[in-house]
Amino acid sequence: MLTQNLGYPRIGGQRQLKKACEQYWAGKINFDELSQVARAIKTDNWQTQLEAGIDLIPCNDFSFYDHVLDTSLLLGNIPKRYAEVLTGVKGNSEIDLYFAMARGYQKGDLDITAMEMTKWLDTNYHYIVPEFSANQEFKLFSENIFSEFTLAQQQLGAKAKPVLLGPVSYLLLGKEKEENFDRIDLIKKLIPLYVEIINRLKQLGAAWIQLDEPCLALDLSKIEKEAFEYAYRSIANRVSGIKILIATYFEGLLDNTQLAVNLPVAALHIDLVRAPEQLDEVLAFIPNYMTLSLGLIDGRNIWKNDYEKSINLINKAISKLGADRIIIAPSCSLLHSPIDLEAETTIDPEIRNWMAFARQKLFEVVELKQIAQGDHTLLAANKAAIASRRTSVKVHKQNVKDQVAAITEADASRKSPFPVRQQLHHERFSLPAFPTTTIGSFPQTEDIRQLRAKLKKGDLTPEQYEKAIREATVEVIRWQENLGLDVLVHGEFERNDMVEYFGEQLDGFLFTKNGWVQSYGSRCVKPPVIYGDVSRRQDMTVHWITFAAAQTKKLMKGMLTGPVTILQWSFVRDDQPRDITTNQIALAIRDEVLALEKAGIGIIQIDEAAIREGLPLRKAKHPHYLDWAVKAFRITAGGVEDQTQIHTHMCYSEFNQIIEHIAAMDADVITIETSRSQMELLHAFAHFKYPNEIGPGVYDIHSPRVPTTDEMVSLLIKASALLPAQNLWVNPDCGLKTRKWPETKAALENMVAAAKAAREKISV
Ligand code: GLN
Ligand code: ZN
Repeated sequence: MLTQNLGYPRIGGQRQLKKACEQYWAGKINFDELSQVARAIKTDNWQTQLEAGIDLIPCNDFSFYDHVLDTSLLLGNIPKRYAEVLTGVKGNSEIDLYFAMARGYQKGDLDITAMEMTKWLDTNYHYIVPEFSANQEFKLFSENIFSEFTLAQQQLGAKAKPVLLGPVSYLLLGKEKEENFDRIDLIKKLIPLYVEIINRLKQLGAAWIQLDEPCLALDLSKIEKEAFEYAYRSIANRVSGIKILIATYFEGLLDNTQLAVNLPVAALHIDLVRAPEQLDEVLAFIPNYMTLSLGLIDGRNIWKNDYEKSINLINKAISKLGADRIIIAPSCSLLHSPIDLEAETTIDPEIRNWMAFARQKLFEVVELKQIAQGDHTLLAANKAAIASRRTSVKVHKQNVKDQVAAITEADASRKSPFPVRQQLHHERFSLPAFPTTTIGSFPQTEDIRQLRAKLKKGDLTPEQYEKAIREATVEVIRWQENLGLDVLVHGEFERNDMVEYFGEQLDGFLFTKNGWVQSYGSRCVKPPVIYGDVSRRQDMTVHWITFAAAQTKKLMKGMLTGPVTILQWSFVRDDQPRDITTNQIALAIRDEVLALEKAGIGIIQIDEAAIREGLPLRKAKHPHYLDWAVKAFRITAGGVEDQTQIHTHMCYSEFNQIIEHIAAMDADVITIETSRSQMELLHAFAHFKYPNEIGPGVYDIHSPRVPTTDEMVSLLIKASALLPAQNLWVNPDCGLKTRKWPETKAALENMVAAAKAAREKISV
């Protein structure tokens, strides 16, 4: 019996990678210095896994920005528009090309937009979407995978296992950039390069290679299934002497079980946390040469493993396959899990004893193997922890459970239909055509972050902190007034994070000191932990929003985070269904909405940035999720008067499959990401004849690039061709928190100019 890990967090225990990348982008350190930071993180990670006793340890799981982008560079899939970055600018090297693809490039005469970014399956990690053209060629470009393997080998010997995104998922997770071809047909061109790469790794001494094929656990068409068969049969024909492990995760194999177990590879990894029920079927059909990797430890959450449950699954697998054909593993890469619980010294010890971070999960993997081999002494402590969580009064609150049980249909509906409300809003707000607004946050500068740090350290009194945040708020309000924005925001300076801010004020949440997880590139998030029944103690935002509203005659939007997003961006309870937890949060946010309305705030935005990413990966599970997710939003908004305008905001998403449910949320105004995809996403809204008002983002806030007025006007023209112009708002793609001031000011000035031009050019 072996143990393995599928991937380890790469940001570093102190977020060293984030800091180093940002310094490199700012020109403060050179690539050598950046590489040294990277190398230290890798060697530390390998040491940790070695010391934990893991048998197969991943390498090439490190990335400077994103592992899918790494794969594109490895395969030489570099869109033509970036060629100049490397060839046209003296001193630029591969890393500059790489970051240009990730972040866009605006220097000298070059002005190139970034590649599209989207959520990695159902996680809050974002990857850079590979682009494919009809006559796409693949050719080995980056040598990183080989140098990283060689480095790993020096430290780990035969335990070093290179990890690479598999060929079929690589294609499926990308996008055609031309009409009239299907990217899956590129598999024939792609396989020879995979063969070349695998053979080279073998020559370097790799005994195993892990090919991640998460798409094997998704709904697949016939052609996609055939691509899997073709890919792995071709690889098997041309590669020998290295064991290929296909890793699936986040869903069960279900109808793809036969396909998966019949692929000619040495081992298959399945996720038994998300889909424990798949074990029986896999065991029934797995051929006798194949090893099964059991994904038992939850790589997506922070709870301790229930050893008793896992041992049952292991024993079942042993009785069918024998211990030799079993590998014990986390369910997926630990990329999605914070690094080390040891660093958390302030969590209530009773609750902390229920938790495990990446490093602890490695120990769990090894302990499960030891228990399976007969060391039962390890069971007792685990059993006690699991039992204490099940009955703790810190978790279970009867009054909260009763309130959720009492929710009615009427609680989840506005009083009148949208056209009636829209009329009332026109009368109340008298906004111009193409009203301008922003999504909520303004740049969280170092100064603002320092204020919070100083408050925490006691270097600032709460009064001093409050005063400084007020000043920043007033300043941003004046700035918005001068710019001529129509609906203002307060800037969210008092918020560290849109979920954490609410979680801190709600019962049932706890916070870590250092539980960072990579979200995209250098951006990390520190998700709260929902450990118990959730309730609201008091007003959470009224104080700040009313202060801001009092500073201006203009309209001020109240800003809240929605229940699905709070759930989605937290580590959630695994001891009750997600919809129950969401409804508990929905009731809390509903009370906050009503408190804002009572305080005279006429426009309230309830961000549901994450509603799309919560969508289950398998279609069969969509209806149930959409049902409760939409209802939770409606519960938050359902209590207000018709005159109150409810906004919602969603981050980049494919809306096609879910547009009717977005409409069912019945927000008066929705703002969405659309600019990186050049308004492509709007087709779904147009096709559906989306009835309510909508603000398609006219510029990409994930890149420092400043968009021109003209380019935003043409996006608005595009949008007006698709949707009734009188329903359109003008706004950026998302909040501006991660941006710097100079680019924010320049971009918003251009945006307001674009709205003015649109009012002249486009008839409403
Ligand atoms: N109101 C939030 C902000 O502007 C929304 C952020 C988001 O959608 N991720 O920061
Ligand atoms: Zn957003």
